[in-house]
Amino acid sequence: MLLRHTTAKEIDRKALTINPAKTCQPVGAMYAALGLHGCLPHSHGSQGCCSYHRSALTRHFKEPVMASTSSFSEGSSVFGGSSNLVSAIETIFSVYSPDVVAVHTTCLSETIGDDMTQIISKANEEGKIPEGKRVIFCNTPSYVGTHVTGYANQVSSFVKSFSTATPKKKNVVNLVAGWMEPADMREIKRIASVMEARTIMFPDMTDVLDAPLTGTYKMYEQGGTTIQDMIATGDSKFTIGLGPYCTEDACVKLENKCKVKFEVLEIPIGLKATDRFITSLSRHANLPVPDSLTEERGKLIDLIADNSKYFWGKRVALYGDPDTLIPLTEFLLTLDMKPVYIVTGTPGKHFDEAMTELLKDKVPEAKFKSGERADMFQLHQWIKQEGVDLLIGNSYGKYIARDEDIPFIRSGFPVVDRPGNNFFPITGYVGATNLAIKILTSILDHIDRTCPEEKVEFQM
Ligand code: SF4
Repeated sequence: MLLRHTTAKEIDRKALTINPAKTCQPVGAMYAALGLHGCLPHSHGSQGCCSYHRSALTRHFKEPVMASTSSFSEGSSVFGGSSNLVSAIETIFSVYSPDVVAVHTTCLSETIGDDMTQIISKANEEGKIPEGKRVIFCNTPSYVGTHVTGYANQVSSFVKSFSTATPKKKNVVNLVAGWMEPADMREIKRIASVMEARTIMFPDMTDVLDAPLTGTYKMYEQGGTTIQDMIATGDSKFTIGLGPYCTEDACVKLENKCKVKFEVLEIPIGLKATDRFITSLSRHANLPVPDSLTEERGKLIDLIADNSKYFWGKRVALYGDPDTLIPLTEFLLTLDMKPVYIVTGTPGKHFDEAMTELLKDKVPEAKFKSGERADMFQLHQWIKQEGVDLLIGNSYGKYIARDEDIPFIRSGFPVVDRPGNNFFPITGYVGATNLAIKILTSILDHIDRTCPEEKVEFQM
């Protein structure tokens, strides 16, 4: 169909990206801001940027995403958006009454060089910020980094703006959530609660972007990390960051600011990454791992053992965000599958190092690429050269899957053409079980559909 004419032959490209595996920084900043209770994200730039970022999130989560904009005109594009932002702050508090306004910049305001600290101080001096309310900001120029960088910058701004240390540390573990679905955050919180660990998760999109339909409109849903909890993160005794790209910077800032030690892990996707998360939480909360979690783990292993012949040796191509791709690749290896092509548009050395380490012995022929030149066009070319049995990634992969007739699992951001990611986590042992079943179902459905008639099996 759309991509049928993609050729297998690769030509070296230096200044062209086709179908990048990323989106722009403010999308991540806006998503993270929604994980703070009573927070209104504010886009300091043109209306078009804000509309795009809101619609990207709305199309994925199927929820209204509220955000305001400085609405740059030709004048503000030349002379700066200071007065737009100051009057926006006044209007936002009087009309929408948030507890916090989380401002993020855009390409335009960054290029002009608007000084956010100075503009927000001016708004404060002029009495535009009501008593007890807060305006925070992060810089998200989209000509560097990706939505992952924007998310990380917003989470760091929470620490910078709120986390406060008192002389007394509490027996609480901070869980800094990297970019994942609300369902994945809910599953991580469930694991912590089964362990009876006292935790503060931030940001926390549960009950914000997966809130029930009640018939009553709420500008700010009941979920999200509260400001009190965000302040209290400075008194926690330890922090676990889940996803280095999205959380490491916030963990470092929290240690520097409030002396809270930290460990950064991969997002607990798959058996081994979940083992590491639960072990870390058990150690730092000083609590044993309950039998119920060990049973969940055992059920996952049983499923893998029962179906190992279907997983074994299957070639997989995947694309998306590095914090997801690294543990996902590890899980595919646990299943004895072969992750052969892996692409992320987010730059960073950690992805390349982790992939080298994971793949060097088990799949030495694997190809992986990160950064602005890593795109889905090249991924498709690799698939054309030597096919795969499964494709995993966001909705943009459906054209490749259709043209090459590959089983396809939608995962990551954005998934705009199927529901479900809000309901079924891929984190924890339960999430890994969900994921393994999805993989099996996709592969077996494809076998049923395409094998010769005499080979159709009733029982697999
Ligand atoms: S101008 Fe920059 S911030 Fe705005 S939508 Fe485009 S890439 Fe994103």
